[in-house]
Formats: sequence, C-alpha cells, structure tokens
Amino acid sequence: MRGFGMHSVGKVGWIEKDRPACGPLDAIIRPTMVAPCSSDTHVSHGGSGPHENLILGHEAVGIVDEVGSDVVTFAPGDYVVVPCVTPDWLCPGAQNARSTSHDVGPFGSFKLVGSKDGVMAEFFHVNLADANLTKLPEGVAPEAALMIVDMMSTGFHGAEVADITPGDTVVVIGIGPVGLMAIAGAALRGAGRLIAVGTRPAAIEVAKGYGATEIISYKHGPIDAQVRELTGGAGADRVIVAGGSADTLGQAIRMTRPTGIVSNINFFDITDKFSIPALDWGLGMADIDIRGSFCPGGAVRMAKLLDIVKYGRCDPTKIISHTFTGFDKMPAAFELMDVKAPDLIKPMVILDA
Ligand code: NDP
Ligand code: ZN
Repeated sequence: MRGFGMHSVGKVGWIEKDRPACGPLDAIIRPTMVAPCSSDTHVSHGGSGPHENLILGHEAVGIVDEVGSDVVTFAPGDYVVVPCVTPDWLCPGAQNARSTSHDVGPFGSFKLVGSKDGVMAEFFHVNLADANLTKLPEGVAPEAALMIVDMMSTGFHGAEVADITPGDTVVVIGIGPVGLMAIAGAALRGAGRLIAVGTRPAAIEVAKGYGATEIISYKHGPIDAQVRELTGGAGADRVIVAGGSADTLGQAIRMTRPTGIVSNINFFDITDKFSIPALDWGLGMADIDIRGSFCPGGAVRMAKLLDIVKYGRCDPTKIISHTFTGFDKMPAAFELMDVKAPDLIKPMVILDA
C-alpha cells in the first residue's frame, strides 16, 4: 500500500509498505479524511528523535476494513472515529486513571506515529478496537469528528488540566488549532476574562468567536509583562501553554498569580531546557502548579467529545482553514502545515467523500 511519511529526518515523501496485519483484538481502517498536525511536522524534523521510513499522521476518521477474530463491537463497513491516542488498556500503566496516555512509559499510548505507522496511508492499524474506536454518531459531520480526535481533545485537555473554575482569568498562549480549542474549552468551563496570545489574523477571528475577550501579541514585548499590565499587576488564575518555545514556559509562570495553575500542552523539543528563576516561581512557595499533560484517548473520551458537538456546545470545524480533496493531495496539505502560511489554521484532506 501507499502512504505519505518521512524517509528520514527532514525528508518526506511517498512510502510503499505492506498493508498492516490485524491482531485478534485490532482493526484495520481505511481513512476517509485525515488532517496533518504540527506534531507530525515536529516529528518529521526530528523533534522527537530520529525516525526512518515512518508513515505520518495521527488524525483520521474512516471505514473499518477488517476486524480481528475477538472484536465484538465493530464490523467491516462501520464509519468510525479514531482517537489520536489509543492506549493499550491491558497494560497496567493505562489502568491508572491519571496516566492512561502513558501505558508503557511517557506518552506510550500515542501509538500512531509515536511507535508505529500513522494514518496518512491507504490503511492503518488500530490496537484494541473495542476500547479505542467509536462509531460516528448521527448528527455529527465527519469533518467535525476529525477535528475532535486530537485538536479538540488536546485543547480541551489544556482547560481540564488547568482546572478552570467559574470566573477565572485565563490566558491561552498560542492560537493555532490547539490553542483555539483550548479557548473554546476554557469558555465552556466558565472562564471570566480570557486573554489569548497570537498574531495570525484568521486565527484571531476564530479565537474571538470561541470566547477570547482580548488578544495580545508576543511580537509586542514580553507577554508576561503585558498580562500583568492588563490585570493591574495581579496576573492570571490559569495559563494554558499551546505554543511558543522553552522560554514561553517561564513567561507563563511569571504571569500566573499565587495559587494559580500553568497547564502545558505544548510539544517541546528533546533538546529544550527550561530555566525558572526562583522569584518567578514565588520563591518556590507561592502554590503555583506547573502541569504538563498529554491528551487522553480511547472510545469513552471520543464519545464524550462527540456529544459536545452533537448537542451544539462547540463547533470545532471553525478551525478548518484549508480543505484538500484526493489521496494525492496529502503532501500539499502536509507542506502547508509545515510552512505555516499566514492564513493557515488547520488543513484537512478528504480522501473518499
Ligand atoms: P501552531 O504552530 O499552529 O500554533 C502555535 C501558536 O503559538 C500560534 O498562535 C503562534 O502565534 C504562537 N506562538 C509562536 N511563537 C510564540 C511565542 N514566542 N510566544 C507566544 N506564542 C507564540 O500549533 P498547534 O496549535 O498545531 O499546536 C500547538 C502545540 O501543541 C504544538 O507544540 C503541538 O505539537 C502541540 N500538540 C500537543 C498535543 C498534546 O497532546 N500535548 C497534541 C497536539 C499538538 P502566531 O499566531 O503568530 O502564529
Ligand atoms: Zn496531533
């Protein structure tokens, strides 16, 4: 079969591989829609270490093509939603409620691209189909489901990890698709003032639509100083980091008030180092929590997020800025994600309408 991926660090293109084999509990999916992610471009540049001959992509919806002999819930022909995180639920690591994304170690449950070929192919493999797949429900468009599998799941996770309480002043750093979904999640959790950081005009419009009350730019001076000024020196109750560099984490801490929470969902580089001066962290005694987390996966997670869309609480399709049609368009969509065109938020590719 044919897939799009990385031959080696920095070199992407078409890859020929055997169709994946289906274990007794697993499924083989034929994707109908895929979306490249900034995590794919990050991996392709070696940001998570060297990989060779790896099919990229971890965001897909599709049709079940084959199921293993012990799969009970799904059959070939079912239209399914595939979470980007597919834990091995039989593994003790995944059975600990706080660590389902880390079944065999740090983000071990991120299997598509993380430890096996991804979804940008004619077929891809999903482990433990009964626990990881969800049927596309009536009333949810497939492109909305596609935006749930990672973008909404990760962005909303940023708001969950930040533990936002009603009326909190929240800062979301980054208004790429993940940050935009974090804004939507923060608004649903009852944020009061909601300050977003970013510059791309198309994303700014969507940020306001999802509930951002103010937008600031990291190009107009240090963002921690800007937030302090906007809040009369107080700082924010909650800060979600969904963009920027290693330095951004320090800025996030500096803009957080005592007893506040910094919730990081940004993907730092393996060579990054963080420097947190003690004063910025309240001399280590200001009860400022620094949390970093990876989005949860599995069927129940997807079903809950699908309900948020089905019952009209959030429309994640507002983040789709570019739609490509045809299997051969995957390289173009990936390149757009890689170069980050100014009007880009999130591209998607319809493989089979
Ligand atoms: P994007 O690159 O689309 O967006 C990044 C945002 O950060 C943009 O709004 C950009 O601003 C802003 N930004 C850039 N530099 C700075 C800076 N110095 N200070 C403040 N803001 C800055 O990324 P995505 O939304 O696709 O993804 C965000 C992060 O989330 C990535 O690191 C990605 O790998 C990660 N991720 C994590 C997952 C998880 O489970 N933890 C899953 C999926 C993604 P501008 O508007 O100017 O472009
Ligand atoms: Zn992703």
